[in-house]
Amino acid sequence: DAADKPSFADLRLDDLARGVTEHMRIVANADQLELDLVEPLAPCIVHGDHDRLRRLLFNLIDNSVKYTPAEGRIRVGLDFRHGQARLYVEDTGIGIASEHFPNIFDRFYRVDSARPRHSSATGLGLAICQSIAVAHEGDLEIESQPGRGTRITMVVPATLAESDRRVTTTASTGLNV
Ligand code: ATP
Ligand code: MG
Repeated sequence: DAADKPSFADLRLDDLARGVTEHMRIVANADQLELDLVEPLAPCIVHGDHDRLRRLLFNLIDNSVKYTPAEGRIRVGLDFRHGQARLYVEDTGIGIASEHFPNIFDRFYRVDSARPRHSSATGLGLAICQSIAVAHEGDLEIESQPGRGTRITMVVPATLAESDRRVTTTASTGLNV
């Protein structure tokens, strides 16, 4: 099936994060949750599969929406450190006890106490996120405290775009015309 074939290309992870967050804000706001970007996003270039990375971020935000009570806050951020992009979603939700950390990325694993606000949960979302991160030679990290909130971070190899490259290129092209 051609639709299942990964297609890798250089892409701007900050643009992708902006797009998915914008899209999911409507869903979050409908559940009385704030959804914001942590600016500035690092201008990271990742050699990756656009659709799969979108899916990963969608799944993480979807979880934060499901497991954060109304009036809570969700934030999406992107940092660059040591040759790696760090894309994270953090929330002020119910959190996950550390005893669950070893299993949380397993297929069909769900925390018993989790009461999703929507009924369709199967426990596949994070397993899919993990496989997407691994397909990009990266991984997922989890930080969480019950009753306080959760942050899940995708760490993948990346390079940093020169943020003024476009301006510089335009300027030099202008001189040569
Ligand atoms: P699906 O994603 O298939 O709809 P799911 O959300 O239950 O179902 P996962 O996304 O794999 O499954 O998450 C596994 C479990 O981890 C969840 O059932 C929930 O218990 C816990 N979890 C995941 N994200 C969060 C979060 N942001 N806050 C609190 N608990 C979470
Ligand atoms: Mg999920």
